[in-house]
Amino acid sequence: MADKIVMNADGTMTVPDDVIIPFIEGDGTGVDIWPAAKLVLDAAAAKHGKSIEWMEVLAGEKAFNETGDWLPQDTIDKFTEYLIGIKGPLTTPIGGGFRSLNVAIRQIMDLYVCLRPVRWFNGVPSPVREPNLVDMVIFRENTEDIYAGLEVESGTPEAKKMMELLHDAFGWEIRADSGIGVKPISKTGSQRLQRAALEYAVRRNRKRVHWVHKGNIMKFTEGAFQKWGYELVREDFSDVAVGWDDCDGDPGDKILVQDAIADIALQQVLTRPAEFDVIATMNLNGDYLSDALAAQVGGIGIAPGANINYVTGHGVFEATHGTAPKYAGQDKVNPSSVLLSGVLMFEHLGWQEAADDIVAAVEKTIGDKVVTYDFARLMDGATEVKCSEFASAIVDRL
Ligand code: NAP
Repeated sequence: MADKIVMNADGTMTVPDDVIIPFIEGDGTGVDIWPAAKLVLDAAAAKHGKSIEWMEVLAGEKAFNETGDWLPQDTIDKFTEYLIGIKGPLTTPIGGGFRSLNVAIRQIMDLYVCLRPVRWFNGVPSPVREPNLVDMVIFRENTEDIYAGLEVESGTPEAKKMMELLHDAFGWEIRADSGIGVKPISKTGSQRLQRAALEYAVRRNRKRVHWVHKGNIMKFTEGAFQKWGYELVREDFSDVAVGWDDCDGDPGDKILVQDAIADIALQQVLTRPAEFDVIATMNLNGDYLSDALAAQVGGIGIAPGANINYVTGHGVFEATHGTAPKYAGQDKVNPSSVLLSGVLMFEHLGWQEAADDIVAAVEKTIGDKVVTYDFARLMDGATEVKCSEFASAIVDRL
């Protein structure tokens, strides 16, 4: 009988071979990509004696139409109870009380890491000459920064009150017609993200970690992030990692921890990608960086993502693109983003062999030039297939 995943007191997870996993199909093209991804995930699991009992939970338009609620409490409860979940893209409700359903799920469940591995699959069309040099894993902070939603609108009594407060307390003069946002960056939030990145680097035998920040300008928020990162290395990771300043650039056999100013980092990930490995950064920088990097290796149709709390074990794995409504129901778009998010989920569950099989089969399928429209339009001699046919082609190569 299928069972739920259990988080043990020592921080390990017990994952039954026949496991229950809640899923959100997703709006728009969710109806196309989710069944395609499920086909491949089920086949790869079965090959290794595992199975998944998928439990549908609702969010987005489907939830609103059936329950009147964009994000029913039951969905959060199920994700919380079953620890792990996966989701397709969701429409951002206009005037629905949420800035974004994705951001809401991350904040309600305190999923503080947005994990975005970015690597190239052989054969995927790319705008750069050597996409094979891109193999980076981004740890983006998910709960703080200007994404905290602490904003007041220009011209409102709230904005006026905020200006008076800042003037009276700090003598700050702010232009009268401004909107104002608050950017909280805490030591707690920074170091739990940085700890996750360092532990990942150790686990995966990665050689470098970069703190990406704009601390030269925002000294007490982004600058503090950098400072706290190096402190953490010295205090808790000195046996396996060393900061640049503490080793004159020669880490020996330890992981080298460096930092890079965000604007330069955005250049260098493009011009010197081989020098970047694991990257940890705050919410907004992480948003820009993940999409800029995804573009180098085939775009958002193939970029996976996960939101994880490594302390509680909770994780929601998700397609990183939106609902692409103009293609909805056409069985056309690329299901790789949600499928490869499923691969991340398998890795998180310890189902590494099934995960590796899927990656190899995706690579073989693309290598055989059997691809969906988004890649077909950039490749010579490709066979364009539908979303569901692409999934079947992957299963054939598992
Ligand atoms: P989008 O849905 O990501 O689509 C933008 C473009 O990206 C598409 O027109 C298509 O490009 C390409 N694309 C998206 N998914 C693809 C796939 N599976 N395979 C191949 N190409 C794909 O962005 P949007 O149109 O700005 O947003 C639509 C809705 O999604 C909005 O309501 C937005 O708020 C929401 N959204 C949700 C998420 C999420 O749930 N994580 C993220 C972003 C946006 P071409 O036109 O070139 O073919």
